[in-house]
Amino acid sequence: MKVTVVGYWHAFPAAGEATSGYLIEKDGFNVLIDCGSGVASQVQHYCNLAEIDAVVISHYHDDHVSDIGSLHYYRLLQPHISEYPQQPFTMYGHDEDVESFQKLSFQGEVNAQAYEAGQPLNVGPFTFHFYKTTHPVPCYAMKIESKDSTLFYTADTGFTTEMAEAAAGADLLIAESSFYKGQDSARFGHMTSEEAGQMAGLAKVPTLLLTHLPHFGDHSQLVVEAQNECPDTFVETASPGWTKKI
Ligand SMILES: [Zn+2]
Repeated sequence: MKVTVVGYWHAFPAAGEATSGYLIEKDGFNVLIDCGSGVASQVQHYCNLAEIDAVVISHYHDDHVSDIGSLHYYRLLQPHISEYPQQPFTMYGHDEDVESFQKLSFQGEVNAQAYEAGQPLNVGPFTFHFYKTTHPVPCYAMKIESKDSTLFYTADTGFTTEMAEAAAGADLLIAESSFYKGQDSARFGHMTSEEAGQMAGLAKVPTLLLTHLPHFGDHSQLVVEAQNECPDTFVETASPGWTKKI
């Protein structure tokens, strides 16, 4: 599968960029994972909006969902402005927050479908597995398998060894690093660079991509702090358009 970073900022996007959004593609099937502010605009650098086949949402914090409405309006206008045939379109999310879950559907153009931990979900060529995270609101990490590779995305979470075990064997770990080593990340349901590195070390993944990055400090320091915890893993920070075939 091909993985592309659309947006990687925590909370709000920097100028011309986006908060959480990741595009995965396999055999011409595109899934957008999370759809934060700026994602509907930025994703068009990598994919026509008509070519997005499904959306999977980790949780309903604004920096993961605030551009959902733009995708809804696009689906409404698409038959009039695009030569791409209109396909049925589904957004997947958990339904523990019923009001937010219902907002994923839109005027018969977009269906909402709930996922659950312990229930594998097939979306095109991908199989998703969901893991509840440690966060102030219900949120799910995802293990995403295709026939020849596995991606693990932590979404927003505090550190747990259970999640490291779930991520074991992944070809790529996309882990949030909202804070620097030594900061009190657990209080906010987030991880530091050091904890993201520990997770990668325990999971023995070949590549760790740090994301959900803070609007302070020097991001190159995050890499150094994470790398110290997982010497056998290649560590990078997310950037717009970062892409990798796994
Ligand atoms: Zn969050």
